[in-house]
Amino acid sequence: MKVMKFGGSSVKDAEKIKHVSSIALNAHEKEPVVLVFSAMKGITDMLIEAAEKAENGDPGYRRLVEEIKQRQAEAAAKLFTEKSDAEAIMQDLDQLLNNLTDILHGVELVKECTPRTMDMIMSFGERLNNRLIASYIESTGTPASYIDARTIITTDASHGSAKVDFEVSYPKIRKAIDTVEGIAVVTGFIASTPKGITTTLGRNGSDYTASLLGAAIDASSVEIWTDVDGVLSADPRLVENAYVLPDVSIEDAMELSYFGAEVIHPYTMIPAVDKKISIYIKNTLNPSAPGTRIAADIRKNSLPITGVASIENAALINIEGGGMLGHTGVASRVFSALAEIDINIIMISQASSEHSICMVCREKEAGRAVLALEAELERELHYRMVQKIDLVKELEIIAVVGENMKGTPGISGKLFSALGNAGINVLAIAQGSSERNISFVIHRSDRKEALNVVHAAFLGDQKK
Ligand code: ADP
Ligand code: ASP
Ligand code: MG
Repeated sequence: MKVMKFGGSSVKDAEKIKHVSSIALNAHEKEPVVLVFSAMKGITDMLIEAAEKAENGDPGYRRLVEEIKQRQAEAAAKLFTEKSDAEAIMQDLDQLLNNLTDILHGVELVKECTPRTMDMIMSFGERLNNRLIASYIESTGTPASYIDARTIITTDASHGSAKVDFEVSYPKIRKAIDTVEGIAVVTGFIASTPKGITTTLGRNGSDYTASLLGAAIDASSVEIWTDVDGVLSADPRLVENAYVLPDVSIEDAMELSYFGAEVIHPYTMIPAVDKKISIYIKNTLNPSAPGTRIAADIRKNSLPITGVASIENAALINIEGGGMLGHTGVASRVFSALAEIDINIIMISQASSEHSICMVCREKEAGRAVLALEAELERELHYRMVQKIDLVKELEIIAVVGENMKGTPGISGKLFSALGNAGINVLAIAQGSSERNISFVIHRSDRKEALNVVHAAFLGDQKK
């Protein structure tokens, strides 16, 4: 059995849904499949916007729900040959949409949307779309059943990016898929706590859902179907010369996705490692292309790096002061203070002079981070052991990724001279001792140029 997941761009309207259903049904003739679909492209963003509007008392959220309804209704009208089938499914979806409106109205009344409520609101995108697609597949004559992933994937309560309890989830997944009638059509992205509270697996989380299902049922492979030919050496929207990587190691895939290659959710690789299942990235617009294989046993190549990726909207916090020299415990207090308020540090760098510690976080969290650090280091600031806490915004992190960098001298030299020659200023640098990743921080305005300069320096003439 194999798992096939289709992302938002591949199911954004009736035409696309028909197309990917035929890809899935063709595959099913050769080997039974389990299907995972995302919400239609843009719907999750609209749900978030609706929640934010409701929280601010703006009744505009009703218009957004109406737009979501229209997109689903338009697709339903085109997908079903029998008008009565389209009406029946729309009745089902209307019930869900009424439920959504009620929840949003609740948010409007209490003027608060907690992360828990946000997860509930975001869950509607996948629930609506998978119901629609399951009924459509049935209507083509192949039995199919809708499975709400909240009944089979159990997580903790860290809303927005919940952690999966593998031991509890795997048997539930296996049981549901063993007993389902016809093809299982499973909602991506969503899950629930042991008490049944809705959670989500983080943006792009449907990829992760697919690999969880694959690992639970010992699938022969997991296929992530999207709108590009595979994992590319860089984001093709920013680097014209980016090319498809035929195979990528699990570690490199994790690094690239963590550092912004949204083609795959970083956690997707975790269950596949457990069960040694290969993950394939395939293109619905070009189904016969081989795609990218992500696996533990990939062929070695001679390229210096695997690829480059970038994280937008970063901010740098710099703590500076002569009093930190040899003073133990400052770093640990800094990180604990930030962990306490749930701020994720993406990159850290401390020179061995210990004169300054610099770290990078998301720009939207930076203000809170600085306040927490000022409170934590109040005494050090007062006695001038720490001179200042600086914040620089509008930055970008770029990561150069690749296992082949390990033990290869000259990579950093080449990287920073290429950037220097292009006149790009680097604000901070970090390299993990795994030598699989060199990250550096630049100004946002240099993003595109930096990605292209780095790509050209290492992989310039690889595009075939
Ligand atoms: P889906 O809707 O299928 O989940 P996403 O939009 O989440 O698709 O991810 C696919 C997109 O990721 C591509 O269209 C591409 O623009 C972008 N992308 C960014 N970096 C990379 C990369 N290194 N390789 C491939 N695609 C990338
Ligand atoms: N619909 C969710 C998102 O937009 C999950 C996914 O598409 O994988 O993030
Ligand atoms: Mg995605």
